[in-house]
Amino acid sequence: MNTLKVNLMSLRIVGIYFLFSLVWILFSDAILAYFINDITLLNSLQTYKGTFFILITSIILYSLIHSHITMIFRMEKRLEDNEQRLEYVIQGANLGYWDWNYSSNGHVVNDTWLSFLGLQRKDIKNDIADWTDLIHPDDKALVQSTIEKTLQDFKPYVIEFRMKHHDGHWVWIEGSGAVVEKDDKLHQALRLVGTHRDISDRKRVEEEIIFLALNDPLTKLPNRILLKRKFDASLAAHIAYEQLAFLFLDLDAFKTINDLYGHTIGDKIIQDVALRLSRKIGINDIISRVGGDEFVILTHDVVSVETLCKNVLMCMHEAFYVEAQPITLSVSIGVVLYPQDGNTFEELFKYADIAMYAAKNSGKNGYKFYHKSMSEQLCESAALENSIKRGLSNDEFCLYYQPQINLNTGKVIGVEALVRWMSPHVGLIFPNDFIPQAEENRLIIPLGEIIFRKALEQSKIWESSGVFDGTMAINISAVQIEEENFVAKIEAIRHIVDINASKIELEITESFLMKDPFYAAETLQKLKTIGYKISIDDFGTGYSSLAYLKQLPLHKLKIDRTFIKDLSSDKDDRAIVRAIIALAKALELEVLAEGVETEEQKVFLLDNWCDTAQGYLFARPMSIKVFEDFLRQN
Ligand code: C2E
Ligand code: CA
Ligand code: CA
Repeated sequence: MNTLKVNLMSLRIVGIYFLFSLVWILFSDAILAYFINDITLLNSLQTYKGTFFILITSIILYSLIHSHITMIFRMEKRLEDNEQRLEYVIQGANLGYWDWNYSSNGHVVNDTWLSFLGLQRKDIKNDIADWTDLIHPDDKALVQSTIEKTLQDFKPYVIEFRMKHHDGHWVWIEGSGAVVEKDDKLHQALRLVGTHRDISDRKRVEEEIIFLALNDPLTKLPNRILLKRKFDASLAAHIAYEQLAFLFLDLDAFKTINDLYGHTIGDKIIQDVALRLSRKIGINDIISRVGGDEFVILTHDVVSVETLCKNVLMCMHEAFYVEAQPITLSVSIGVVLYPQDGNTFEELFKYADIAMYAAKNSGKNGYKFYHKSMSEQLCESAALENSIKRGLSNDEFCLYYQPQINLNTGKVIGVEALVRWMSPHVGLIFPNDFIPQAEENRLIIPLGEIIFRKALEQSKIWESSGVFDGTMAINISAVQIEEENFVAKIEAIRHIVDINASKIELEITESFLMKDPFYAAETLQKLKTIGYKISIDDFGTGYSSLAYLKQLPLHKLKIDRTFIKDLSSDKDDRAIVRAIIALAKALELEVLAEGVETEEQKVFLLDNWCDTAQGYLFARPMSIKVFEDFLRQN
């Protein structure tokens, strides 16, 4: 209630009293004297009249004061209710509240405000300095200037800053404030109120998001984006560093570790590698994880870059331990120099990657400095990929056929389809020159389908015409069979060609079996149920365990030709071939020797109970026509 209203109310009460008394004084005696002539009676009546006057005025005063006091109580109660409601709202919103009397410098806060900072009410005095002292030194200037501005222009503010918790850590606060009382004449704020909100959780999430955007969560090392930023910053400070070296590291055969031990252990090893590498670099060097098993080291110490490479190679030699089991690793490193090899981050990254591949190709576990000729080689392989694609759309791939012979009877029992590329530019190209590339870029999948279809169609033609009805062996790359829909795909082709699955033998390699034994067993079982025969190609070069082989639905082992080649001179090879034959017999599998070129090899195989063979001694892979002639002569 403002003062004017209070004054008016008081005046009203006094005014009513004054008027009433005046009327009474002026008229009561005259009226009484008019009716009463007896002086004694008049005197005593006047005494009663006085008493009556006091009684009436007391009643009037009572009713006036009562109604006003009631009104004041009611208003106080309403005010109290409102304050309580406001406090509930503030508490519900978990808002700290402060009220600052600017003229007296008194400062009031609520319990929530105190709780944000772990304070008790006794910890603070009623002074504004209580909380300005707690503001983070880096944020003090911001808070001060913001409040000063509000004191000037009376506009509310919202800012974020840190305050010290009672236990010493920093709490992120979102603070708002506004001037609620001011002296208009002096243009001066008298009172400010505002809220504090604890936004530490939100800030933590924000910081985490920023961290994740710039760092690798597994190793906590900078990622490629942050590496580029740091590189650009280094260039900006170019005056300090004349040169930079960029090392691209890739762990050798790390995929095998993931395949054999699973990703959890793979991740653990990556963390250990990151730790070892971090210890090898200089304080000004930067290390970053840029891919699954790829790291980049950026160093200004170009003079010692070879030493750094050697140290990195050395530090990997010591075994990594997984559940007390030692695992050995190596790394291949590509090195590029700034500014000799490239000027931009992207250029250097690309060339370092190329140099790393060169290090891998020259036997892994080493380092190579980038040279222009490396890029040219890479262009060649990119060109090869394009030519394979062109070859596929121009139908440049065809099949040659090599017979498989029963050594006891000399009869052709089957045939292996071997792909050939009839390139109009290069001429005849052998599979070793394009299959590895096609596997790497997965072009083997469309190519493999073409091969499968052509082999089945040819088999159907020979079967229908009565030329040949033996087994058709088809090579299947691990990349093909690893595809989830592999079985469905070949089944679709087989149904179109309309041929019995028992006529088809799928040659798969040991490496596929070892990669994911459960998946391999499951897929082979599906194929076997349909009726396909399954043989293991190049047997002896992988590491299949006997116990595992026993569980697989196999049909045949094909002894790799490297063991057959030196049978006459190498007694180890003789022992291996004997062992493989014995193993096949024990597992009740057929066994076929590949690459038989001499009569001597054939005799050795026969002596050791090997049933079948394939090789130049009997026939080379042949075109359809030549193979048909061969069959007629056989
Ligand atoms: P592989 O499956 O071990 O095929 C046998 C290879 O040995 C063939 O080479 C064949 O020409 C060669 N060979 C056969 N007899 C003899 C011999 O007495 N002495 C010697 N030195 N070699 C002999 P090719 O046709 O060049 O195939 C090489 C490899 O390419 C194959 O090895 C196979 O891994 C792959 N390949 C061939 N055709 C296909 C195919 O259609 N699909 C897939 N995925 N891979 C294929
Ligand atoms: Ca084969
Ligand atoms: Ca083979």
